[in-house]
Amino acid sequence: MRPFDTFVVVDWSAKKEPSPKRPSPDAIWVGVARLGSEDVACDYHRTRHEAMQSLIALVSDERGAGRRVLLGFDFPFGYPRGFARIVTGGDDPLAIWAALAERIKDHPNNANNRFDVAEDLNRLCPGIGPFWGCPPGRATPDLPARGTLRRDHGLPERRGVEQSLPTTQPCWKLFTTGSVGSQALLGLPRLQILRQRFGDEVAVAPFQSHDRPIVLAEVWPSLLRVAIADLRQPHEILDRAQVRVLAGAMSRLPPETLNAMLRAGDKEEGTILGVSDAEALHAAAMGGPARLSPPPLSSDCFALPRGVDWTPVDETLALLRERLSPVTGVTRCAVIEAAGRVLAQDVIALRSNPPLPNTAVDGYGFAGGKGEGVHRMPLTAGRAAAGDRPGAVAPGRAVRILTGAALPEGVDTVVLQEDVTLQGDQIAFRGPIKPGANTRAAGEDVAKGAVALKRGTRVGPAEAALLAAVGVREVALHAALRVAVISTGAELVEAAAAAGPGQIFDANRPMLLEIVRRLGHVPVDMGIVPDDRVVLSARLDRAAVEADLILTSGGASAGDEDHVSALLKQAGAMTLWRIAVKPGRPLALGFWSGVPVFGLPGNPVAAMTCALIFARPAMARLAGEPWPEPQGFDVPAGFTKTKKPGRSEFLRARINAGRVEVFPSEGSGRVSGLSWADGLVELPHGAADISPGTPVRYIPFGSFGL
Ligand code: AMP
Ligand code: MG
Repeated sequence: MRPFDTFVVVDWSAKKEPSPKRPSPDAIWVGVARLGSEDVACDYHRTRHEAMQSLIALVSDERGAGRRVLLGFDFPFGYPRGFARIVTGGDDPLAIWAALAERIKDHPNNANNRFDVAEDLNRLCPGIGPFWGCPPGRATPDLPARGTLRRDHGLPERRGVEQSLPTTQPCWKLFTTGSVGSQALLGLPRLQILRQRFGDEVAVAPFQSHDRPIVLAEVWPSLLRVAIADLRQPHEILDRAQVRVLAGAMSRLPPETLNAMLRAGDKEEGTILGVSDAEALHAAAMGGPARLSPPPLSSDCFALPRGVDWTPVDETLALLRERLSPVTGVTRCAVIEAAGRVLAQDVIALRSNPPLPNTAVDGYGFAGGKGEGVHRMPLTAGRAAAGDRPGAVAPGRAVRILTGAALPEGVDTVVLQEDVTLQGDQIAFRGPIKPGANTRAAGEDVAKGAVALKRGTRVGPAEAALLAAVGVREVALHAALRVAVISTGAELVEAAAAAGPGQIFDANRPMLLEIVRRLGHVPVDMGIVPDDRVVLSARLDRAAVEADLILTSGGASAGDEDHVSALLKQAGAMTLWRIAVKPGRPLALGFWSGVPVFGLPGNPVAAMTCALIFARPAMARLAGEPWPEPQGFDVPAGFTKTKKPGRSEFLRARINAGRVEVFPSEGSGRVSGLSWADGLVELPHGAADISPGTPVRYIPFGSFGL
């Protein structure tokens, strides 16, 4: 059986008139998700008639294109055991659908006869009931207004599936909150029409085997209420969020899991899709397999536009920014595990901060502002301190109140204790005091339901505080980006090892590993590789398994001993980006076994500059963070330089007495200059004539996240 292609979730409505023109709650909402796509289309319909026409058109189109469709509706598909026999003489739940289709009249404007039908059905049953609830004045002995007026009808109050879900509404209830009974009475006849229209192509789960191209299933969005609270967009209508999140979740369920859900459940009463495996449904809503392992980068993402020779720095950055996307998986974790990690989804405040209006100072609280002049007020006994939930304060009275205390009922303004004279059980102070003075409104910091933190945010100390303040306990996090660092060159030896003449110590690896660590990623040390393609190729193989990104230094140009670029070229996916930058030489960008490789220049100064300018934002993107722009400052130059146009230059620099000075040598091998510097001066692509006092752009290393 091939998997479904299209997933439709319908939030049904039993309204007796059309819903407002403007999309609103409690109307019919339809969410349509498609296999492999993250987008869910959401539609709003004012009447059942209009919604069904649109659904029939959708299903016809899908069938015309040879696609399988799963449609979920949020009302019961069956009734408690025994009801089918009373109405139809047998236990086939689909026979009730036919029986209801014969009785229900539901007009294009939503006017309908559901209470009459319920009354007729009640007459078929012994005693009074089981249906109940109707508008005032509609009640009769056979259709009571209240559930407690029913007796001896002999039917269970709830289906088996509802007994395990106490917040579901029983299907006998026709009026007010939920009115699930009315939804089913008006919904099942519409589904019966779908069955007739599409004949043998339709199966109803779990009553029929679901190996058909169109499958109908009962859904209940509240199964996902935690995920929906988490994923609901600011100001999004709840019904819309429900169909959107549920349809998306269904589209991300592994097919075997979904099939098992469609098979599960009672064959007479029916079931709610997903109760058999609510955890899998939740996981699918929160990301599912599609997002747990994000799609790989396209192998041509490092291709340069044809005819490009020297790419300016800005263009290089724009190309990388456009083409790189997050590569790390996503998991849900407790907030305490979030420190240092990147949020994979917007975090919605589960509670307002502050949760209640409270006082910002120690003082005395009362109602309303006070005009000019002296005011005297009697004090109420007791006091309100932080953590208290004090009683009401009578009009005209004041209460002692301490910083952070929730405002008692009857208090909206606070006067500072320093401005008050206490005389027995009276206070006196001088106006004017504005209404609301010295108080904080509930939610003035963050309102419940608002986005507290955007996805892509790395959780630092401030974010940890905010997550705690808005009551969030669990968040979706990107796995840390693992970055392999390899040094290449026959001349290199491990720092502190014995070095022969002609050998040098590997300076780049310790530097790059520390940059990776400071930027919040996980450094993976892959050692030194001599200039030997077999060894390098084996090392790249290992790095591709152990890391999400590989940084190499050395051997990146096009010379005889430039094996990094030679191997990447052999592997088929490499571009030598000739970037118009000093220090820099070419940057080799490519893929090894699907893992991106940044081939940095060997000179330590060039390696560090290129790591900060190019690899740093690329790593942020791959890790799920937004593209970072280093914050630079215009500072008067403390040096003289004439720069030719045609490339950007980065000079090792530091601030001295309000001016920025640069390292005396521009030599790219001068490692000591890196440590001498506190940042870089960036000279843009064009020509520049700099003398002492000319403003230049200084970027402290701190702005690069170091
Ligand atoms: P390459 O890019 O391999 O041509 O190297 C350029 C220059 O950088 C040469 O002088 C190398 O010896 C030097 N170099 C390459 N890798 C390192 C390293 N890991 N540490 C220090 N110097 C290096
Ligand atoms: Mg080399």
